Amino acid sequence: MTLVFATHNANKLKEIQALMPKDIQLKSLTDIGCTEEIIEDADTIEGNALIKARYVKETYGYNCFGDDTGLEVEALNGEPGVYSARYAGEHKNASDNTIKLLNNLKDKENRNARFKTVIALCLDEDELVFEGICMGLITAEVSGAGGFGYDPVFMPEGYDLTFAEMPLSEKNKISHRGLATKKLLEYLQN
Ligand code: IMP
Repeated sequence: MTLVFATHNANKLKEIQALMPKDIQLKSLTDIGCTEEIIEDADTIEGNALIKARYVKETYGYNCFGDDTGLEVEALNGEPGVYSARYAGEHKNASDNTIKLLNNLKDKENRNARFKTVIALCLDEDELVFEGICMGLITAEVSGAGGFGYDPVFMPEGYDLTFAEMPLSEKNKISHRGLATKKLLEYLQN
Protein backbone atom coordinates (compact mmCIF):
# COMPACT_ATOMS: atom_id res chain seq x y z
CA MET A 1 0.00 0.00 0.00
CA THR A 2 1.13 3.55 -0.76
CA LEU A 3 0.71 6.01 2.10
CA VAL A 4 1.51 9.72 1.90
CA PHE A 5 3.10 11.53 4.84
CA ALA A 6 1.96 15.17 4.44
CA THR A 7 5.41 16.70 4.74
CA HIS A 8 8.13 18.05 2.43
CA ASN A 9 10.78 17.05 4.94
CA ALA A 10 12.76 14.14 3.45
CA ASN A 11 14.48 13.40 6.78
CA LYS A 12 11.19 13.02 8.64
CA LEU A 13 9.97 10.72 5.86
CA LYS A 14 13.09 8.55 5.94
CA GLU A 15 12.91 8.21 9.71
CA ILE A 16 9.33 6.97 9.65
CA GLN A 17 9.77 4.80 6.55
CA ALA A 18 12.41 2.82 8.48
CA LEU A 19 9.79 1.95 11.11
CA MET A 20 6.92 1.11 8.72
CA PRO A 21 5.74 -2.41 7.89
CA LYS A 22 7.47 -3.62 4.71
CA ASP A 23 4.28 -3.56 2.64
CA ILE A 24 3.76 0.17 3.19
CA GLN A 25 5.48 2.49 0.72
CA LEU A 26 5.72 6.04 2.10
CA LYS A 27 5.63 9.08 -0.18
CA SER A 28 6.16 12.74 0.67
CA LEU A 29 4.17 15.71 -0.67
CA THR A 30 7.01 16.37 -3.11
CA ASP A 31 6.84 12.74 -4.33
CA ILE A 32 3.17 13.14 -5.33
CA GLY A 33 3.70 16.56 -6.95
CA CYS A 34 1.95 18.55 -4.24
CA THR A 35 3.95 21.77 -4.26
CA GLU A 36 1.18 24.17 -3.25
CA GLU A 37 1.00 25.38 0.32
CA ILE A 38 -1.62 23.65 2.46
CA ILE A 39 -3.18 26.38 4.61
CA GLU A 40 -3.20 25.23 8.23
CA ASP A 41 -5.75 27.63 9.71
CA ALA A 42 -7.53 25.46 12.28
CA ASP A 43 -7.56 26.66 15.87
CA THR A 44 -6.48 23.30 17.30
CA ILE A 45 -3.46 21.06 16.80
CA GLU A 46 -5.77 18.18 15.88
CA GLY A 47 -7.59 20.40 13.37
CA ASN A 48 -4.37 21.28 11.54
CA ALA A 49 -3.23 17.65 11.37
CA LEU A 50 -6.63 16.74 9.88
CA ILE A 51 -6.48 19.59 7.34
CA LYS A 52 -3.25 18.17 5.89
CA ALA A 53 -4.38 14.54 5.75
CA ARG A 54 -7.82 15.40 4.32
CA TYR A 55 -6.38 17.76 1.70
CA VAL A 56 -4.15 15.05 0.25
CA LYS A 57 -6.91 12.42 0.34
CA GLU A 58 -9.45 14.72 -1.29
CA THR A 59 -7.15 16.37 -3.85
CA TYR A 60 -4.82 13.53 -4.81
CA GLY A 61 -6.76 10.42 -3.75
CA TYR A 62 -3.98 8.92 -1.65
CA ASN A 63 -4.33 7.50 1.84
CA CYS A 64 -2.41 9.97 3.97
CA PHE A 65 -1.35 11.01 7.45
CA GLY A 66 -0.35 14.48 8.65
CA ASP A 67 1.08 15.64 11.95
CA ASP A 68 0.99 18.83 13.96
CA THR A 69 2.71 19.74 17.21
CA GLY A 70 2.28 22.45 19.82
CA LEU A 71 3.83 23.47 23.13
CA GLU A 72 1.20 24.17 25.81
CA VAL A 73 2.35 26.19 28.81
CA GLU A 74 0.18 26.11 31.93
CA ALA A 75 0.92 29.63 33.23
CA LEU A 76 0.12 31.02 29.76
CA ASN A 77 -3.26 29.29 29.54
CA GLY A 78 -2.02 26.75 27.03
CA GLU A 79 -0.13 29.19 24.78
CA PRO A 80 1.61 29.09 22.36
CA GLY A 81 -0.28 25.86 21.51
CA VAL A 82 -1.45 25.76 17.92
CA TYR A 83 0.56 28.98 17.28
CA SER A 84 3.89 27.46 18.42
CA ALA A 85 5.63 27.82 15.05
CA ARG A 86 4.71 31.50 14.62
CA TYR A 87 4.63 32.61 18.27
CA ALA A 88 6.98 35.54 17.63
CA GLY A 89 5.67 36.26 14.12
CA GLU A 90 5.05 34.85 10.67
CA HIS A 91 8.79 34.50 9.99
CA LYS A 92 8.60 31.37 12.21
CA ASN A 93 11.98 31.81 13.88
CA ALA A 94 12.75 29.28 16.62
CA SER A 95 15.14 31.50 18.52
CA ASP A 96 12.70 34.46 18.53
CA ASN A 97 9.91 32.13 19.66
CA THR A 98 12.02 30.86 22.54
CA ILE A 99 13.03 34.37 23.66
CA LYS A 100 9.38 35.47 23.63
CA LEU A 101 8.41 32.42 25.68
CA LEU A 102 11.10 33.07 28.31
CA ASN A 103 10.08 36.74 28.50
CA ASN A 104 6.42 35.87 28.97
CA LEU A 105 7.34 33.45 31.74
CA LYS A 106 9.68 35.85 33.54
CA ASP A 107 8.73 35.96 37.23
CA LYS A 108 6.27 33.06 36.84
CA GLU A 109 6.75 30.28 39.35
CA ASN A 110 4.64 27.75 37.50
CA ARG A 111 6.86 26.42 34.70
CA ASN A 112 4.71 23.39 33.82
CA ALA A 113 4.36 22.67 30.11
CA ARG A 114 3.63 19.87 27.71
CA PHE A 115 4.32 19.08 24.09
CA LYS A 116 1.44 17.61 22.16
CA THR A 117 1.63 15.93 18.76
CA VAL A 118 -1.43 14.80 16.86
CA ILE A 119 -1.15 12.53 13.84
CA ALA A 120 -4.30 12.38 11.70
CA LEU A 121 -4.73 9.44 9.33
CA CYS A 122 -7.15 9.33 6.39
CA LEU A 123 -7.27 5.67 5.36
CA ASP A 124 -9.89 4.68 2.79
CA GLU A 125 -13.16 5.85 4.34
CA ASP A 126 -11.79 6.15 7.88
CA GLU A 127 -10.31 9.09 9.81
CA LEU A 128 -8.28 8.38 12.92
CA VAL A 129 -6.18 10.51 15.26
CA PHE A 130 -3.22 9.43 17.39
CA GLU A 131 -2.00 11.70 20.19
CA GLY A 132 1.35 11.85 21.98
CA ILE A 133 1.98 14.01 25.03
CA CYS A 134 5.25 14.74 26.82
CA MET A 135 5.02 16.55 30.16
CA GLY A 136 7.83 18.78 31.40
CA LEU A 137 9.04 22.20 32.53
CA ILE A 138 10.23 25.37 30.83
CA THR A 139 13.71 26.18 32.11
CA ALA A 140 14.80 29.72 33.05
CA GLU A 141 17.52 29.80 30.39
CA VAL A 142 18.37 28.07 27.12
CA SER A 143 20.62 25.07 27.45
CA GLY A 144 21.98 22.55 24.95
CA ALA A 145 22.91 22.65 21.27
CA GLY A 146 20.94 19.69 19.90
CA GLY A 147 17.37 19.38 18.70
CA PHE A 148 15.32 22.23 17.28
CA GLY A 149 12.49 24.62 18.11
CA TYR A 150 11.82 24.92 21.83
CA ASP A 151 14.14 22.01 22.73
CA PRO A 152 16.74 24.19 24.57
CA VAL A 153 14.14 25.33 27.14
CA PHE A 154 12.06 22.14 27.52
CA MET A 155 13.06 19.73 30.29
CA PRO A 156 10.98 16.53 30.15
CA GLU A 157 9.53 15.20 33.40
CA GLY A 158 11.94 12.95 35.30
CA TYR A 159 15.05 14.33 33.56
CA ASP A 160 17.70 16.87 34.50
CA LEU A 161 18.43 17.73 30.89
CA THR A 162 16.63 19.73 28.26
CA PHE A 163 15.66 17.99 25.01
CA ALA A 164 18.52 19.92 23.39
CA GLU A 165 21.00 18.24 25.75
CA MET A 166 19.76 14.68 25.05
CA PRO A 167 20.79 12.35 22.24
CA LEU A 168 18.04 12.17 19.61
CA SER A 169 17.59 8.43 20.25
CA GLU A 170 16.77 9.20 23.91
CA LYS A 171 14.41 12.06 23.01
CA ASN A 172 12.56 9.86 20.50
CA LYS A 173 11.80 7.28 23.20
CA ILE A 174 9.85 9.74 25.34
CA SER A 175 8.85 12.55 23.02
CA HIS A 176 5.32 13.58 22.04
CA ARG A 177 6.11 12.81 18.39
CA GLY A 178 7.71 9.46 19.25
CA LEU A 179 4.62 8.42 21.25
CA ALA A 180 2.12 9.50 18.58
CA THR A 181 4.17 7.75 15.88
CA LYS A 182 4.26 4.55 17.95
CA LYS A 183 0.45 4.57 18.14
CA LEU A 184 0.17 5.09 14.36
CA LEU A 185 2.57 2.21 13.68
CA GLU A 186 0.75 -0.12 16.08
CA TYR A 187 -2.49 0.64 14.24
CA LEU A 188 -0.97 0.05 10.79
CA GLN A 189 0.66 -3.21 11.87
CA ASN A 190 -2.60 -4.72 13.08
P1 IMP B 1 5.26 21.29 13.64
O1 IMP B 1 3.80 21.06 13.75
O2 IMP B 1 6.06 20.01 13.66
O3 IMP B 1 5.63 22.21 12.50
O4 IMP B 1 5.69 22.06 14.97
C1 IMP B 1 5.19 23.34 15.32
C2 IMP B 1 6.25 24.11 16.10
O5 IMP B 1 6.44 23.47 17.38
C3 IMP B 1 7.62 24.09 15.42
O6 IMP B 1 7.86 25.25 14.72
C4 IMP B 1 8.60 23.98 16.56
O7 IMP B 1 9.01 25.26 16.91
C5 IMP B 1 7.81 23.38 17.69
N1 IMP B 1 8.18 21.97 17.89
C6 IMP B 1 7.58 20.88 17.33
N2 IMP B 1 8.14 19.76 17.77
C7 IMP B 1 9.12 20.13 18.61
C8 IMP B 1 10.07 19.40 19.37
O8 IMP B 1 10.14 18.16 19.38
N3 IMP B 1 10.91 20.14 20.11
C9 IMP B 1 10.89 21.50 20.15
N4 IMP B 1 10.04 22.23 19.45
C10 IMP B 1 9.16 21.55 18.68
